[in-house]
Amino acid sequence: MTRVFNFGAGPAVLPEAVLQQAAAEMLDWRGSGMSVMEMSHRGKEFMSIIAQAEADLRELMAVPANYKVLFMQGGAIGENAIIPLNLLGKNPKADYIDTGSWSGKSIKEASRYGDVHVAASSCRPEAKQGKYTTIPAVADWRVRKDAAYLHICGNETIDGVEYLQWPDMDALGLKGVPLFVDVSSHILSRPMDVSQFGLMYGGAQKNIGPAGLAVVIIREDLLEQAQAGCPSAFHYKTVAENGSMYNTPPTYSIYIAGLVFQWLKAQGGVAAMEAKNRAKAALLYDALDASGFYVNHVARECRSLMNVPFFLRDESLNDAFLEGAKARGFLQLKGHKSVGGMRASIYNAMSLEGVQALVGYLKEFEKSHG
Ligand SMILES: *Cc1c(COP(=O)(O)O)cnc(C)c1O
Repeated sequence: MTRVFNFGAGPAVLPEAVLQQAAAEMLDWRGSGMSVMEMSHRGKEFMSIIAQAEADLRELMAVPANYKVLFMQGGAIGENAIIPLNLLGKNPKADYIDTGSWSGKSIKEASRYGDVHVAASSCRPEAKQGKYTTIPAVADWRVRKDAAYLHICGNETIDGVEYLQWPDMDALGLKGVPLFVDVSSHILSRPMDVSQFGLMYGGAQKNIGPAGLAVVIIREDLLEQAQAGCPSAFHYKTVAENGSMYNTPPTYSIYIAGLVFQWLKAQGGVAAMEAKNRAKAALLYDALDASGFYVNHVARECRSLMNVPFFLRDESLNDAFLEGAKARGFLQLKGHKSVGGMRASIYNAMSLEGVQALVGYLKEFEKSHG
């Protein structure tokens, strides 16, 4: 068996220990005589799996008691519609901050369900490389004070722009507007104060587990604002009242997520992950900055700890770079097709050794081609 260094943006690398445990339990989950995939979601075995997963996620993120944790389907793109369907029933106004490809998608989708206003944007449409490299200054945000919510994307997976500091809604005079955040690609990568948000959501396939699962953390008082046409399977109140089992949940994905939560606890929790993630990111950004050969365009104060896009200054070398990477077992380094260049995703499950090896390759390639 050979395992590569997988720098893919998602579905992404998972902790090897988790995959090994899942393999060992594949045919017979802890004496049940069944695979988790074969279990009734209402049987006592699976009920214990989902309860433990929720408890561990609550512990890892210190989720306050007045928040519901929902395990849903449809991924984060599904949530782009599910959120307005659930929140714009009484008040149609929703404000969004545009910091990259994913917030752009959220804005476009939400516009189908409500009165959507882009309160700030850092888009530079004219830029050849790096259309999004900053977060607009919070003082310049034009948020409607009567909006049902303000939506941000916490980490722009494609553009590599991350909120390393959250906006202070009180200081903005927006105490009454709940802040919603897409945390698909940085959930559990560092401590996040859930109480600052009305809603946090993300697809699982970056930092949690297999695709097919979306995690939603929502403040209870926001469960009563759905539009009449909101589908039952995506109706937060219905999902909450049924313990994420109104419909059959993605059971196997929840099981793997639970194993990842256990693994994170064994690593020391999210504060310990943050220290590791900062060390990995610093190593990689320092290597890029120190060379005249590679470039990352993102402003330092919002460089993502999870997704590091970069360009070779001589883009005619792109193919040679990727071929050499592949030959050394570094996979999925090609940047998203919409931005080009390269991207190294260095999620929780990417080891420091993996990043060190990549940095070694960056230097080696520069030496032989620079
Ligand atoms: C990957 C990603 C999505 C899309 O997730 P799907 O599971 O494909 O719906 C949305 N937002 C962000 C920030 C992402 O990284």
